Amino acid sequence: MLTLIVCIFSAAILLFVQTRLYAALDAQLGLQIATIGKVYREEPDELADLASEWGITLFRVDDAGGIRQQTEAWAREGLSSPLQPGDSASPLSWTAPSGRRYRVHSLTGSSYRVAAAIDETSLRDTLWTLAVILATGIPFAAGLAVAGGYFLAGRVLAPVGAMAQKAREITAESLAKRLPVDNARDEFGQLATVFNDTLFRLQDAFERLRRFAADASHELRTPLTAMRSVGEVALQSPLDAVAYRDVIGSMLEEVDRLTRLVESLLILTRADSGKIHLVPEDLDLGRLAGNVIDQLHVLADEKRQELTLRVPIRVHATADAALIRHALMNLIHNAIKYTPNGGAITVEVNATAKRAVIEVRDTGPGIPIAHRDRIFDRFYRVDASRSREEGGVGLGLAIARWAVEANGGQIELASEGTDGSLFRVMLPAADDSSAADGHRRVPHELRRGTQEAASS
Ligand code: ADP
Repeated sequence: MLTLIVCIFSAAILLFVQTRLYAALDAQLGLQIATIGKVYREEPDELADLASEWGITLFRVDDAGGIRQQTEAWAREGLSSPLQPGDSASPLSWTAPSGRRYRVHSLTGSSYRVAAAIDETSLRDTLWTLAVILATGIPFAAGLAVAGGYFLAGRVLAPVGAMAQKAREITAESLAKRLPVDNARDEFGQLATVFNDTLFRLQDAFERLRRFAADASHELRTPLTAMRSVGEVALQSPLDAVAYRDVIGSMLEEVDRLTRLVESLLILTRADSGKIHLVPEDLDLGRLAGNVIDQLHVLADEKRQELTLRVPIRVHATADAALIRHALMNLIHNAIKYTPNGGAITVEVNATAKRAVIEVRDTGPGIPIAHRDRIFDRFYRVDASRSREEGGVGLGLAIARWAVEANGGQIELASEGTDGSLFRVMLPAADDSSAADGHRRVPHELRRGTQEAASS
């Protein structure tokens, strides 16, 4: 492109200079003709002195009587031949038989004709020299541009090379490495920053994945070790049928635990890979909560706990029934697990202006505020041994959070102290939710196993 531009530019310069030089030459020629004409008309005898006085060496004057005056050089070069007899001619360039080029011009008066010529060899030499300079300059300029471009591009793109080199060194094992950022404000700096941010997120995701795998293996090992030691002890000495039944019973308990753990892991893994497709539907949350309570009341009964459902208004939400059910099941099950015998658990379904709210409150030990941020993390437990004792696998709240957030909701631990726990689930209310409809309020307080739970 640059070569093309330089070529066009050079040609334009050459054309411009040529036009200007010829214009100057023609003006000089015109002046000479005017001078010759004037001398011819006013002092025709002095025509012969024009060469010596004015330096006009190439001219000819014709009048009715034939050639009136003609310089010797004019006659020698035969400069009359390009001119039409009797006509005025515009300036024209002509090559004499001697090889020299002349600019010839003639002007016809009433009874005479004046013709003059100027040798244009020096003008052509000038043009030729200019053409040679331009022609040799073009490859030089192109070469310089290529070399300069190569050098500059090399310098400008050097950071990209460095980044590529560094990026090549980054593997799954060295995700902590970062690309060099010379200037965070230029384009390469921005690119490196974006790349580094991506690396940070990847590192974080890898880290969580590693921790998850390590925690999961640890959790899987615990029941397996328990089963193994129970089995080994049983094999050490012969036992009676009742003792064998006990051994099998405790092994089955561990198998149950393992099954729950594997199922939870499966849910989370499928959730992570986005393989669970939500089927949002219009849910009556009071009815759903009643349904879950109905399933869990046996556990609460065993611990002589009071399990209450409060549904002051009918609340609808658009969400996936199975997931919300799973989340509620985990929350209420936790409340039963961690609340001591004789405690109370209250589930309340209510609504604010735009949200459906489900609260699960218990009179258990509560969760200290220090654990609030991490309580929904996978395998995080406030009291690990207590949780294991209760058969917990440490994934219940993580699954509940995923289930609620997948449905566009939020889950939070609303209690702060050790005076019972309060978990709050907020879901986007369905458009036709009666949250704002005062007239559809159905105040009722349901105990476990009420007709609402039963009807569902
Ligand atoms: P787990 O299977 O151990 O119950 P979760 O993810 O369901 O796992 O709960 C994480 C931890 O949060 C539990 O180990 C327990 O320490 C604490 N926790 C959850 N719910 C309650 C509750 N209602 N009262 C007291 N502690 C709770």
